[in-house]
Amino acid sequence: MIHGFWSYIFLSWQSKLLFFDISQYKSNPVLPSTFLRDMTINKIVVGGLGNNCYIVESEKIGIIIDPGDEADKIIKAAQGLDIKMILATHRHFDHINALQQVKQTVKAEAAIHPSDWVSGFDIKLNDAQVIEFGKEQLRVIHTPGHTPGGCCFLVGNDLFSGDTLFPNGPGNTLFTGGDGQAILRSIREKLMVLPDETMVYPGHGPSTTIGRERALY
Ligand SMILES: [Zn+2]
Repeated sequence: MIHGFWSYIFLSWQSKLLFFDISQYKSNPVLPSTFLRDMTINKIVVGGLGNNCYIVESEKIGIIIDPGDEADKIIKAAQGLDIKMILATHRHFDHINALQQVKQTVKAEAAIHPSDWVSGFDIKLNDAQVIEFGKEQLRVIHTPGHTPGGCCFLVGNDLFSGDTLFPNGPGNTLFTGGDGQAILRSIREKLMVLPDETMVYPGHGPSTTIGRERALY
């Protein structure tokens, strides 16, 4: 990591490229869709860009999504769980900075789509692949656009959307491999087919629902 003044300049610059308000990082929305279900969602906000790391759990079996930074915080949240797999929505550093440290401690393999492959990963995800954990199933939805190998993960009515879908707009397509047409196609064809009540948990900032975002697409 870079530190001090230059890190501040870099993060300020980068945050301007993301489609959300940095003040929203501090909000901690209730996660209503898990009410009366056999699954819990733990949202852990990490790093200078306010990345959301999620741990989904059923029957004490967990999946970690986007170990972005602050490994200690993530490892602590994973305590008592048998972590089946670590998933990355995409390859950007702010989503995988803590990967190695978390991986070594929780002793789980890490998976990412092959089009976003970077070192440190073990398993290649395919579109429509299903990963079972406890009593739940997680479905991989390949949603290229923010990056070529970007994926969203659907568990029941809960969608973990990485940097593909945010409240009030799509993720940016300004970095290497970004594609503005592709991200809109991904959102329209693969996410807007989900029911209105689907909860959307993005890679930064607060949650939303498919119904609330539908009018924009
Ligand atoms: Zn990103």
